[in-house]
Amino acid sequence: MSNYGFNTLAIHAGAEPDPATGARQVPIYQTTAYVFRDADHAAKLFNLQEVGYIYSRLTNPTVSALASRVAALEGGVGAVCCSSGHAAQIMALFPLMSPGTNVVASSKLYGGTIQQFNNTIRKFGWSAKLVDFDDPKAIAAAIDDNTRALFCETICNPGGAISDLDMISRVADQHGLPLIVDNTTASPYLCRPIEHGATLVVHSATKYLTGNGTVTGGIVVDSGKFDWSASGKYPSLAAPEPAYHGLNFHAALGGMAFTFHSIAVGLRDLGMTMNPQGAHYTLMGIETLPLRMQRHVENAQIVAEWLEQDPRVDYVTYPGLKSSPYHHLGQKITPKGPGALFTFAVKGGYEACVKLVDSLKLFSHVANLGDTRSLIIHSASTTHRQLSDEQRVAAGAAPNVVRVSIGIEDARDIIADLDQALTKATA
Ligand SMILES: *Cc1c(COP(=O)(O)O)cnc(C)c1O
Repeated sequence: MSNYGFNTLAIHAGAEPDPATGARQVPIYQTTAYVFRDADHAAKLFNLQEVGYIYSRLTNPTVSALASRVAALEGGVGAVCCSSGHAAQIMALFPLMSPGTNVVASSKLYGGTIQQFNNTIRKFGWSAKLVDFDDPKAIAAAIDDNTRALFCETICNPGGAISDLDMISRVADQHGLPLIVDNTTASPYLCRPIEHGATLVVHSATKYLTGNGTVTGGIVVDSGKFDWSASGKYPSLAAPEPAYHGLNFHAALGGMAFTFHSIAVGLRDLGMTMNPQGAHYTLMGIETLPLRMQRHVENAQIVAEWLEQDPRVDYVTYPGLKSSPYHHLGQKITPKGPGALFTFAVKGGYEACVKLVDSLKLFSHVANLGDTRSLIIHSASTTHRQLSDEQRVAAGAAPNVVRVSIGIEDARDIIADLDQALTKATA
């Protein structure tokens, strides 16, 4: 498979004709368990001496097809599917972290991730330090002996800032740390973070991978390149793992250590498993990922340029615009286009934004992104409602700003809808 191009892999990777029936499309294996050939077969499966299916909390053929496809698209050696993007983030950290350790993460992250990192992971004894990932010195200064990973997003939500993955992975390498990249808002079509030095790539499959707002899912892809044994900091992967009868995953499985640990220990004990029906929908979605992403970035560029010249708009943050401070970085990290997610500021502030959102007809007012449909949200009155004005501005969710996720409709229809709603909002 590995010689095929991206478009071919998006359709074929992970999907052999069904061995039992010849079914061309990947069947939904709606089953909890799998019959062992005999007691010896069962023992080999549990010992990881033979790869096969035991129980669908761990693995399922439909879910495995999706894992193989996304691993191929990202250029990784293995992947594990999870119940949501947030589950994927916990699953990525889980084999790396232990109580008292920390992750150094970008301060420009999806709001839900900031919440997960600032509060919830503390219950596991982990912590996060959020710093400016545009500044290599700030990243290096935050790293200490207890740091186990760096974490950032390729294209940052909500403002569309681009992370310099080459620079960030150099900092990670200098400190012997793995870099985890959330590639949700770019998708592997626009950026393959492993080619820029990422160790692990996480996705919310809820967004562009499925692409039409039908599934909640997540995926972690492993590059297979990190040496878990070098520093002695990753005992779950590179020392006898008490949670799996003392197996040293790195010694036994090499580049597949992370993937096998994530299934054999992570999914087994945390249970954040993707369901086969969700995996099927995501497989369907990925077949058209390249076509959709082309249209998403084409439309985003047209709409952003139209908004930028409109006197009712103060500014637009799309990195495809020459006015964006991330324009050059976008050309390096996402050369096919810097996504379809950005914010713009409406003259008239908070009140005008609320009126704009209420006046749009084609756009949907939702807390999602990466749908075929154009979506909008006024963060200050919704997702960032709880924050102070100062915190909202820092998060790119100032009261006068709305976030859009540009869909794949006709660009002129998207613009016409924005035009009529801006007229009402700024009357
Ligand atoms: C939506 C999103 C997540 C969380 O994914 P869920 O599937 O909603 O759990 C994580 N990161 C980014 C960038 C997202 O947009």
